[in-house]
Amino acid sequence: MEKKQFKAESKRLLDLMINSIYTHKEIFLRELISNGSDAIDKIYYKALTDENIRFDKEDYHIKIEVDKDNRMLKVIDKGIGMTKEELEENLGVIAQSGSFAFKEENELKDGFDIIGQFGVGFYSAFMVADKVTVISKAYGSGESYKWESEGAEGYTIAEYNKDDYGTEIILKIKESTEEEDYDQFLEDYRLRSIVKKYSDFIRYPIKMDIKKSRLKEGSTDEYEDYVEVETVNTMIPIWRRNKNELTDEDYENFYSEKHFGFDKPLKSIHMSIEGALRYNAILYIPSKTPYDFYTKEYEKGLELYSSGVLIMEKSPDLLPDYFSFVKGVVDSEDLSLNISREMLQHTRQLQLIGKKIEDKIKSELTSLLKNDREKYNLFFEQFGRQLKFGVYNDFGMHKEVLQDLLLFYSSKEKSMVTLEEYVGRMAEGQKYIYYAAGESIDRVDKLPQTELVKDKGYEILYLTDDIDEFAIKVLMQYKDNEFKSVSTGDLGIETEEKDGEKETEENKDLFEYMKEILKDKAVDIQPSKRLKNHPVCLTAKGDLSIEMEKILSQMPDAQEVNAEKVLEINIHHNVFNKLKESYKNDKEKIKLYTNLLYNQALLIEGLPIEDPVEFTNNIWELM
Ligand code: ADP
Repeated sequence: MEKKQFKAESKRLLDLMINSIYTHKEIFLRELISNGSDAIDKIYYKALTDENIRFDKEDYHIKIEVDKDNRMLKVIDKGIGMTKEELEENLGVIAQSGSFAFKEENELKDGFDIIGQFGVGFYSAFMVADKVTVISKAYGSGESYKWESEGAEGYTIAEYNKDDYGTEIILKIKESTEEEDYDQFLEDYRLRSIVKKYSDFIRYPIKMDIKKSRLKEGSTDEYEDYVEVETVNTMIPIWRRNKNELTDEDYENFYSEKHFGFDKPLKSIHMSIEGALRYNAILYIPSKTPYDFYTKEYEKGLELYSSGVLIMEKSPDLLPDYFSFVKGVVDSEDLSLNISREMLQHTRQLQLIGKKIEDKIKSELTSLLKNDREKYNLFFEQFGRQLKFGVYNDFGMHKEVLQDLLLFYSSKEKSMVTLEEYVGRMAEGQKYIYYAAGESIDRVDKLPQTELVKDKGYEILYLTDDIDEFAIKVLMQYKDNEFKSVSTGDLGIETEEKDGEKETEENKDLFEYMKEILKDKAVDIQPSKRLKNHPVCLTAKGDLSIEMEKILSQMPDAQEVNAEKVLEINIHHNVFNKLKESYKNDKEKIKLYTNLLYNQALLIEGLPIEDPVEFTNNIWELM
């Protein structure tokens, strides 16, 4: 028979799989059972919309059979089955999710979708088997097929004669080696414990033939063997179980069974709500950002069940955007199962549940922040950006919800602090919450603009994420304390020196002269009240800061935006004396100096200078 090749990238992945990317080989069974359960879900779903299908729950189970002598392990389901094409598509290409196609087809019809996680599930069978055979008959089809593969070399597909619809997966279990015991996967008790460990919550019965022995009838000492079919799993979904009975490991297993992530969840949240609207939910905060999280492809949402029947794979109504990183399932008895009914009716109930879920996530994060700061820091590293987007989006509509969950780097603590902590230790007479924006903590730390505020002993928040300053602008204030950039005009700090004004008055002409030189670049030139050791710095008038100009100009469809720049000069610096001197004696020099100082200020801000050649020429000229 002709052998067909796996697609190129599948072949590579399959090689990887055979040589095992998982350390726990036993999870292959979980994957096959989950697939069987998905396939039954699909029939169940069809039965809900098509009255020609009778869904008798008794019929639907997953059966595990062992033939020790021939090293065969079978996983059998009476699910929706696969056509020849589906066998080729689903099993010929790794990471091609058949459930996805099914989903799209049905979504067009009525807005619902169905289970199916993107993954390499089925192929994990090759971790324990030399040969994998799949016999399948699709629901409603007259034909059935046998798919067979011994690994990366390829697969064959041929007609077969299977009576009933559904799928049979047959594994030829590998011979044990010195390093690896494969025999265990042929032992009833071992298989049973694997099922219990990973698949206990599967909603359909998982049945096994368990060998038992009993006294022979009429005998007092003679035993006979017999086989009894047992349901191995409890079938109560994890979310219906009592929290007290569940361990961290149970939650972690469920997280991986659902393919919510390859990481371990940072936190799991279990809700069981009674009342007018009853529901159970298990929510997870992942410990790692999914690779596509900050892209357009990422889809938020929770799995939605109605009395144990999956009706939507990712219900977006259940999660606000700023908590889009949360994964999990929600099951409610009070959602109508009649899925052809108007979606609107659901929407109200969903909104109610969604609101409660939002409150719960917030309170869990708050308690993490209060009680386990280290863990919260880990969380914030991964998803803090999303919270800040949340503050910024929708014109700040959600800032009240989110502001207490934010962390910023503190100049004083040298670590991440909350706004509440900042405000709680504001110095007497301090009017504002000060912040400074820049590329990195190190860069911000060296900004000349921070000098006076630091000198005063005030704490400064360092904003190093590009969203930070935008979020702060939307927040405007926290508990009646306004935010103030160290680069804005009036810092609200009293300085003793009245002589500053005198100097300004005396050198009015000089400032005017310089202003004229920079007239296309800066809107103003002023004596600085914030500089101590540096000769110059740039600040901005108006709402747009220099840092924001930088960020906006880096955006893909950037429009020309310019902060209104002000060049501040430290009148106590030697450089200023030099300026005064030249203004008296050599006005041409002033031109050179002014441009130099302005360019230096640009460089400190991390902004490009307009004409680097001129800049270096100017320096040489001076030398
Ligand atoms: P995933 O389940 O994550 O989509 P798999 O590699 O485990 O990835 O399976 C690929 C596809 O093959 C599934 O999406 C499904 O369409 C199909 N499939 C696998 N096992 C079965 C089964 N027992 N019954 C019906 N279809 C199945």
